Formats: sequence, C-alpha cells, structure tokens
Amino acid sequence: MKGMTRIVIVGGGAGGLELATRLGRKFRKQRAVSVLLIDKHPFHVWKPLFHEVASGSLDVDMDGVDYRAHAANHGFEFQLGALSGLDRENRQIRLEALMADDGDIVVPPRTIDYDILVLAIGSASNDFSVPGVHEHCFTLDSVTEANHFHQRLLNHFLKMKASGSEGPLNVVVVGGGATGVELAAELYKITDYLPVYGFSTIQRRSLAVHLIEASDRILNGLPWHISQKASLILSGLGANILTNASVESVDRDGVSLKGDKKIAADVVVWCAGVKCQETLKNIGGLTTNPINQIVVDKTLRSADDTSIYALGDCASLTLDDGSRVPPRAQSAHQMASCVCQNIINQLAGSPCESFTYRDHGSLVSFAEYSTVGVLAGLMGKKVFVEGGIAKYLYISLYRLHQIALHGYLRTALLALVGRINRRLRPALKLH
Ligand SMILES: Cc1cc2nc3c(=O)[nH]c(=O)nc-3n(C[C@H](O)[C@H](O)[C@H](O)COP(=O)(O)OP(=O)(O)OC[C@H]3O[C@@H](n4cnc5c(N)ncnc54)[C@H](O)[C@@H]3O)c2cc1C
Repeated sequence: MKGMTRIVIVGGGAGGLELATRLGRKFRKQRAVSVLLIDKHPFHVWKPLFHEVASGSLDVDMDGVDYRAHAANHGFEFQLGALSGLDRENRQIRLEALMADDGDIVVPPRTIDYDILVLAIGSASNDFSVPGVHEHCFTLDSVTEANHFHQRLLNHFLKMKASGSEGPLNVVVVGGGATGVELAAELYKITDYLPVYGFSTIQRRSLAVHLIEASDRILNGLPWHISQKASLILSGLGANILTNASVESVDRDGVSLKGDKKIAADVVVWCAGVKCQETLKNIGGLTTNPINQIVVDKTLRSADDTSIYALGDCASLTLDDGSRVPPRAQSAHQMASCVCQNIINQLAGSPCESFTYRDHGSLVSFAEYSTVGVLAGLMGKKVFVEGGIAKYLYISLYRLHQIALHGYLRTALLALVGRINRRLRPALKLH
C-alpha cells in the first residue's frame, strides 16, 4: 500500500516471534506501518524444548503457539511460507511454493515487498560433510524432525514389547553440547515411565545411549566441573560417554569412529555443530560467513544494507573483544529487543543503538534427574548452581519467553494450566 512502511520478519522463533509481537503491539493502531511475520511452520515451539518433544515430555499440540491466532491478538499479520530468495534492488523476498502432503500446490511461489526486512530463520546442526548423516540421522532442527524421532523411538519400544525383548535399544547421540546432553537424559526418562503404560519389560537398562563427543569433555563450552558433574549424572543413568571420538561415517547399522571403531545403533541423532541454511549463503549479495550467518554491524543491520536486519542464530556479530555472540536463546531474545528499538528509531529518524550482549550464564537440564549450570555473578565471577534453584531458573528462561509473547497474566494462566495438565494427562506423549 502506498505510503505504508512494510516491516517483514522472516522466522518466528525465539527471536523473530518476540520481535513481531512487540512491533505488532507498538504499531497496531498506526495505519502507516504494517508488520508481517513469515514462517515455514504454522505454529511456534520454543526451540530449547525440542529435546522434550523428541522424548514425548512435551506435546506440541498442547504447547505450540499458533502463529495466525497469535498474530490476530497482537496486531500483526502472518503468512506461511519458506524463504527462498532476496531481491534487494526491488526490495522483495521470494517464498517457495506451499505444497500439500499429496504433492498438490496449495500456494504457488510468491514474492513479498518490504521496506524493512528482518531475517531470523535460526540455524541447524552441522553435518560437517560426514558421509551418511543426511540419510541415516535424525536431528532436533525442527519440531517435525523431533516428532519423527519420537515416533521412531516408540516404534522400537513397541517392537521390544511385542517380542518380549529386554533390549538394549542402542541410541547414538552425536554431539556432547547442551542439546546432546539434555536429550540423553530425556531418553532415560522414557524408560522410567513406559512400564506405567503397559511396557512392562522396559527398564532403564533396556536403553543404551552412547553420547559421542569429538573434544576431550562433554559440555566443553562450560567450566570443567560442570562437565564432570554432567558425566557423573549421565553415567549414573546408564549412558556410555565417548570423548575424543570423531564420527567418520554413519550407515544403517550405526556409526564408524576414527580409528576403526564401530558403534552399532538402532537410532542415531545428530546434535553436533551449528550451520545456517544454504538459502542464506550470500542471499541477495549480502555478506555471510562460512556457516552462512549474515554478517551484521553493531546495530544488527547487515553490513551491506541498512534496511535489512538479522538476529539470533542466523546473525554473525563480532564483539569488541573479538568473540562472537553465541547462537543461544538468550542472544536471540536480547537481539530481538535491540532490533525492535532500532526499527522504532529508524522510523522516527533517530540514530540506531548498538547491541550489547549480556551473558547471564548457562543452565543444563537432565530431565527430572537434575539441573546444573553457571550464572554470571557479581564482578564477572561465575556462580555454580544446582538442584531446585537451577531447575527454577531453567524454567524461568521459558517463562521469560512466554511473558515476551503473552504478557504476565496469560503466562501465569499457562503455567497453571501446565500444572493441571501434569495431573490430568499422561507424563509422556504415547502416540
Ligand atoms: C534441543 C535444543 C536445546 C537448546 N537449549 C538451549 C538452552 O537451554 N539455552 C539456550 O540459550 N539456547 C538453547 N538452544 C539454542 C536456541 O534454541 C537457539 O539459539 C534459538 O532458538 C535461536 O533463536 P532464533 O530466533 O535465531 O531461531 P529459532 O528459534 O531456531 O527460530 C527460527 C524460525 O525460523 C523458521 N524458519 C527456518 N527456516 C525458514 C525459512 N527458510 N523460511 C521461513 N521460516 C523459516 C523456523 O520455523 C523457526 O520458527 C537449544 C537448541 C536446541 C536445538
């Protein structure tokens, strides 16, 4: 529409949905500004919960946020579609055709005009070109993948029940970062609950999780004693932790490690590395780094185009000390706030502000068995937390995301409904 400023946000994840919600609320009464969110999925689930989707602890039908309903309540529009290209000269993005499951074209490829574009399409795991990963591994890169993995696990346990087998079911988790470690613990939770639901032969020892890490310790981005603690908890549950182990290839029987070692696997989950989609590589001529992140300046705008912002996992920002902002939910959350303010400033003709990254620490959850982490304390000192406090803080991270989306009252109601559901519904999604 003539005279209207069109803000288009691509990617409704941890950062993009918070941004769309804030901008929608801000401009809902101003006809001169429109806010459009585009995502390739119809609903949002906070990505740090994907390992719970994989284990069945979280039911996306209950906990997902429907983009259309959320948009209607918060003053922005939503379109379903996947980004496929960018034409900076004409200020247009291209979206892939929307296909039905039977191959029918629901909506043909289309273009969308923008005045301000925000790219927030996140990242995926990095297969480092290891042969067989694409064909034989699950990932936790999307809700769909996490759900498929859950189905596969249930099928394996059903087979074991039908044949009376006590296993073990061999699950290889590649990548000893927070994602792999949290998933490993969640998997043991399944074996603790399945006997309640008629899988009487399943016990903890019916599952063998092999956690493979290329460096010399799991959680190697966190202090040494957190790694030790994590190893103790996982070993206590029955996991086999292999460090200094590099995967050379994956096939239908398992993974081959450097040094001729082979680990047989019924299921392999790839949780290693971070890489952005190939679609982003020099998209529209923008500068990207080797993992396809868009290089941004301190205001979070592309180094090549001041009408394009990038945030979250798909943005590469080098800080003054030479380090990069890490691909984490807290970074996406902080970047969304900064981009929101900078768009408001830009529209008002005021200067944009520089992004400041605050590392509040890291928490790792081991399902209901334990939670550990480090918090940024006073004068740069790190404080170790464990147990109930750590669990409370871990849950608070998700609550903060919910507050950004729904406000305090609705978040409190959602927390209450969650508590009630825990009493009324099975502890695991069983279908
Ligand atoms: C299992 C797991 C556990 C994690 N735990 C933690 C944790 O405890 N703490 C922490 O800080 N971080 C954690 N992370 C990392 C954190 O989830 C990410 O850093 C964060 O979600 C990044 O936010 P984002 O907005 O950049 O991208 P995302 O939240 O990934 O959102 C990207 C959005 O873009 C959409 N999209 C993707 N491609 C396209 C396309 N082509 N077109 C249109 N839409 C597209 C996706 O559907 C998605 O909605 C975890 C990640 C995983 C996988």
